[in-house]
Amino acid sequence: MATKIDFYAVLEVSRTASADELKKAYRKQAMRYHPDRNPGDETAEHKFKEINEAYDVLKDEQKRAAYDRFGHAAFENGGMGGMGGGFGGFGGGGLDDIFEMFGDMMGGRRGGGRRRTGNDIQVQVEISLSEAFTGVKKPVEIRTRVTCEDCHGSGSAESNPGDTTCPTCHGAGAVRAQQGFFLVERPCPTCHGSGKVVRNPCKTCRGSGTTEQTRTLDIAIPAGVEDGTRIRVTGEGEAGGNGVQPGDLYVHVAVGSSEIFQRDGANIYCRVPLRMTQAALGTEIEVPVIDSSRAKVRIPAGTQTGENFRLRGRGFSVLRSSARGDMYIQVAVETPHHLSKRQKELLEEFETEAGEAQDQEKANPEHTGFFAKVRDFFEGK
Ligand SMILES: [Zn+2]
Ligand SMILES: [Zn+2]
Repeated sequence: MATKIDFYAVLEVSRTASADELKKAYRKQAMRYHPDRNPGDETAEHKFKEINEAYDVLKDEQKRAAYDRFGHAAFENGGMGGMGGGFGGFGGGGLDDIFEMFGDMMGGRRGGGRRRTGNDIQVQVEISLSEAFTGVKKPVEIRTRVTCEDCHGSGSAESNPGDTTCPTCHGAGAVRAQQGFFLVERPCPTCHGSGKVVRNPCKTCRGSGTTEQTRTLDIAIPAGVEDGTRIRVTGEGEAGGNGVQPGDLYVHVAVGSSEIFQRDGANIYCRVPLRMTQAALGTEIEVPVIDSSRAKVRIPAGTQTGENFRLRGRGFSVLRSSARGDMYIQVAVETPHHLSKRQKELLEEFETEAGEAQDQEKANPEHTGFFAKVRDFFEGK
């Protein structure tokens, strides 16, 4: 496999770059090497692929964490290739694939050889957008198999069960058999893969070494967490029984939506409807901030629907960092409904005050400009 360049180097950012910095760097580089801008240039094309590959990983908190920890190896061993060592199937592969690999690596490290562990458990935790901002501890109830207290997981009723190694597989948990040309390995039929046999089984767990129990764990969910993030808690999955390592617990975090805020990474958007008069005359409005504080925003006279006002550093917290994104106030001018008689009179008076064509153009340049174009259209200009 060809040597890969460090993803951070590809995007020309530091290893501590924020999500925002990454996005900016990616846009800059992608623009520079885009095939449309460099037709027929193979070097640029290659570079463009590298940039996309790097950003694909670094933009995702979990993939980035895996990359920081294991480097390119985090993505290379799971049969993702198929496209000459590239990341071909990456987008489709999704997180699960990566985490399966991730899990295997961890398992290998723990077990020192063949991975034999209890089952992993998946649970979902729902948190609000505000909780995602501050970070939160959530109790998670899991019904799972735990090591039997009576036999301490040995599965035997005897305190000293002697040699429990399975005679069929000699403790390997698997047997090999010739099948045509191939030597295939399957779980041992005597011990069902545990590598151990129990002669006098424990009455509590009937020899399995595990019993079912409901446990409650406090899961610390970090500030800045995104919807769909999966948190792995090592060793909190199902007990394997007979001295096998427990599996892992995976907590899927679902972040609820808000009626006030929309989140995009570290940035937060808040749509604020303005009265027609506020937009025309200018005003100061008070807006809510995700950290439960309030902020004042000055709306200048002549503000239009769709204009954005940025509140720097008032957005979402960035995972594993003290940085914060920005908040954008998106204003929308609301035309009043159900006018009173007096209000109608005032607006009609306002309309007659519009004055000379020159003044109208100043007051409503878009309106005037549009209808000038319409005139040109009909006159065939
Ligand atoms: Zn037991
Ligand atoms: Zn066996």
